[in-house]
Amino acid sequence: MFYKSTRGGQSDLTFSEAVKKGIATDGGLFVPSEFPVYSAEDLGKMADYDYKALANEIFGFFANDFTADEVNNCVENAYLSGNFPMDDPAPTVKLTENVSVLELFHGPTCAFKDMALQILPEFMKQSNKKLGDGKEIVILTATSGDTGKAALEGFKDVDGIKVVVFYPVSGVSEVQKYQMITQEGKNVKVIAVEGNFDDAQSGVKKIFGDDEFNAKLNEEGFELSSANSINWGRLLPQIVYYFHGYLAMARQGDIKIGDKINVCVPTGNFGDILASYYAMKMGLPVNRIICASNDNNVLTDFFHTGTYNKNREFKTTISPAMDILISSNLERLLYDVTGGDAEAVLGYMTSLNSTGLYTVDTKTIESIQNIFWAANATEDETRITISKTYSEHTYLADPHTSVGLCVYDKYFEATGDKTKTLAVSTASPFKFNKSVAESISQPEKIQNLSEFEVLDYLSNKTLLPVPNPLKGLDKREILHKDVCKPSEMKEETYKYIKS
Ligand SMILES: *Cc1c(COP(=O)(O)O)cnc(C)c1O
Repeated sequence: MFYKSTRGGQSDLTFSEAVKKGIATDGGLFVPSEFPVYSAEDLGKMADYDYKALANEIFGFFANDFTADEVNNCVENAYLSGNFPMDDPAPTVKLTENVSVLELFHGPTCAFKDMALQILPEFMKQSNKKLGDGKEIVILTATSGDTGKAALEGFKDVDGIKVVVFYPVSGVSEVQKYQMITQEGKNVKVIAVEGNFDDAQSGVKKIFGDDEFNAKLNEEGFELSSANSINWGRLLPQIVYYFHGYLAMARQGDIKIGDKINVCVPTGNFGDILASYYAMKMGLPVNRIICASNDNNVLTDFFHTGTYNKNREFKTTISPAMDILISSNLERLLYDVTGGDAEAVLGYMTSLNSTGLYTVDTKTIESIQNIFWAANATEDETRITISKTYSEHTYLADPHTSVGLCVYDKYFEATGDKTKTLAVSTASPFKFNKSVAESISQPEKIQNLSEFEVLDYLSNKTLLPVPNPLKGLDKREILHKDVCKPSEMKEETYKYIKS
């Protein structure tokens, strides 16, 4: 097996090359040429695997130029008991007769991105060693909040790699901001950009696309790379937890191995949900994949009509990690359902670039509709679902998770399908505490509290502990104070790299 670009311009890459480069030279995304397929009998043999054993099994196939020992090293370093709960990094909790919640937020930054960003640095370190050109990797990231902190935690103090994170001055929550500006580590830099997330994101894209600047960096011994979910090394780890959640449902007696389940995923960039599709392709018994969006419902419209149209108002919501108009990983799904038609994918993406929209052919959208079901939750519906889930099941869901649970209810209403469902929970409710607290109590009670005070308010009200990584955040030393204009991002990056 090897890796190739969804746009047809590159093939025959090893895992190390795909991970280190991040994105193909033709602008496409790397995909594996083959997938392993597990039978029900194989799943039966894996029934008692813990998270690390499952990760070793799955990575063993895809990390085609790593030895088993090298893979195991990466796994051991990533899913340490100091970073994740010792007994299970991703617990499955039964919510209702039909729904179990897969909690992916018990890592060091309290959002699901840790599941992948704790191991991507290990993959990258090993890949760099293998390719051996001696260049130092510089991870450059623009963040709307969660990715930046997860990348900083994952890459801090990793030899041979530097990390630069840009966040919009007015665009992240106080908790998210403090998580970043108090970040420790000898190889990390956090810079605020005067602007919104789009400004920060465009600035980073410009730096990646600046050939002259990249050539200069290469000459001086540096190479830029990405920690975004366009990187295969970040997507791959997400496949593991769908198998893990399925086997947990079997152990908990909800299903027998071989039974089909639904999965329900709150979606933004389409990375998390694509991993569930790949898991299904690899033999995980899945009936339906439910794609949940917030008010930014580009994907809902696409799944219903076959037209992807990003020409619409960008809405700011209480589930900000899903406020996105271009879901990059959809490109990988299109490549797969068209049977690897790189020419068609290139056409769609070129059209998206020039006009902001594309329409796939009937056969393609029909095969997508056979697997996916999509809807969106409004802001009110999201808040009501937080409140209802808490009052009916004493379960505190964050707004992203709540978008998923709300859309699951719509699915059940529409179809009456009683298939057991694994609903993905992507963030700790304490990370988005203001909207959670407002949803389960009277808003007047908290309107004058800071986000840090709301942490304690929420904890007292629900008797749930504040997660350790969020405790005392506002009392930690502020280590990153730099602010720059979007036009100064390149200069700031260079200054840090050379310091
Ligand atoms: C990033 C994120 C998402 C969206 O995941 P994608 O892989 O981008 O679809 C959902 N919820 C939270 C809390 C996130 O941080």
